Amino acid sequence: MRFLIFIVLIFSTYSVIGQHCTTDQAHISKLESDPHFEENRKRIKSALSTAPYKEERGDTIIIPVVFHIYHNGDPLGVQENITDELVQAQIEQVNRDFRRNNSDSNMTPAAFMPLAADTEIEFCLATIDPNGEETTGILRNHINTLPDVDESDCWTTDYIDNNFVRPSIWNRDDYLNIYSILSIDDFSNGNCDFFASLGYAQFPGGDASTDAVVLSFYTVGSVTMPNPLQPQFLGRTATHEIGHWLDLEHPWGSSPGSCSLDDDIADTPTQLGAVFDCPTFPEYDNCTTTGDGLMYNNYMQYTNDDCMNMFSIGQRDRMRNLINVGRPTLLESLCEAEILSIESIIGMNATVVDTDISIDWTMDYSSDISHLQLEHGTSLDDLSAISYVELDDVRTSYSHIHDNPESGIHYYRIKIYYTNGTTSDTDVVSVVLHKKDLYIAINPVSDVLRLISSIDYDILTYRILNISGQEMVSGQDIDVLEIDVSSYNSGVYYLLITTNQGPHIFKWIKL
Ligand SMILES: [Zn+2]
Repeated sequence: MRFLIFIVLIFSTYSVIGQHCTTDQAHISKLESDPHFEENRKRIKSALSTAPYKEERGDTIIIPVVFHIYHNGDPLGVQENITDELVQAQIEQVNRDFRRNNSDSNMTPAAFMPLAADTEIEFCLATIDPNGEETTGILRNHINTLPDVDESDCWTTDYIDNNFVRPSIWNRDDYLNIYSILSIDDFSNGNCDFFASLGYAQFPGGDASTDAVVLSFYTVGSVTMPNPLQPQFLGRTATHEIGHWLDLEHPWGSSPGSCSLDDDIADTPTQLGAVFDCPTFPEYDNCTTTGDGLMYNNYMQYTNDDCMNMFSIGQRDRMRNLINVGRPTLLESLCEAEILSIESIIGMNATVVDTDISIDWTMDYSSDISHLQLEHGTSLDDLSAISYVELDDVRTSYSHIHDNPESGIHYYRIKIYYTNGTTSDTDVVSVVLHKKDLYIAINPVSDVLRLISSIDYDILTYRILNISGQEMVSGQDIDVLEIDVSSYNSGVYYLLITTNQGPHIFKWIKL
């Protein structure tokens, strides 16, 4: 039923569906329902006003995205049950737009070219979910899994927030949540206007449980993969709504009809209200009457997808500052907390070196990794940490000496701690240590000759001879053999001992 209405709308009245974006309307409702939102907005705006933009070229901010698709049972790829490929194309389009790699950047009017910005903000589909499990970043659910949702209801922004977003949102501190749903409706005139809005977003500072971007499914697409149902949509609704999510307002501000209130961005010209379709340069209105006119090709406008092609430098600064001030945890978020990073530990080996075990490995450095813990055990199911390993981005070879463990089999594994709080384990390596019962602790010897015994010997006599057979020192009846040899000349020596279990001769070297 709903789709009958929809089809009629698409082919008859779609172009006059007025509310390009209902972020401002949703914002008014959210301010009413969230007593802290207004205060938070003021705090963020105050922080922004005193936070100078730091030019950090090359410091790209990458934000993980979880894309929630809600469908009503249509087969995959039909209508609202959009394909993964379309979602991936959408993410790519957003990246192109935010990085000013968009293929239509040459359509920016020459007058605005110097103001067009690479925001150095990117997005990726999340690879790790909030539980640390692997994910494609695309979640697909039937609306019949939502107990209070009915297609015949009026899907206002409140209804969508309460029934779709709240129950399913991933932590907004770590992810940008984007919803693709059947419809965003409007009930402000006392009747439900189906398909009234292309999308909406929540400005920073609002309720964490509704802090998302919501898209009508027929806006999802890209320049190279337009929406199959509505090919005039090239994915710019998402670009626009993410702009709101990062604190950008429409160029006419929140109160159309006034030239004194605008978006608080210096390089987007003052604008009275929304402009639609695609004006020709220059476009003037009552607020901007001369010069280069309105920046009608800005992503935050209501113009057509194939008419918008830039963010301004001022908008870039606002979004990047906002992330620092209002969404700082995103700076720690990771697109690819890479399970791949397991493979970044290469060639882990455990080898016996005298009485110790050396564990060596090579790393492909990954900034996703915070640190490592080397784990050890004498059985596979009883591994525990023996060493914290700090990483740096220069070294590739790491090793740890496990000092003088008992004879027997030893298992080692590296636990990888990612900067987003998740962990993963490498495969276990094992080595067998057969220690002699008696041995010289460190040979060659620099200062002190030390004999180690792994079983309880009584040392009855001892002698040290040089290579010529001359006695250097001798003694008897000791528990621990530790002899200062720092005055000896460099060279080869012998240690002869007799124990309650027989005689032993050790060759050793004085450094
Ligand atoms: Zn908007």
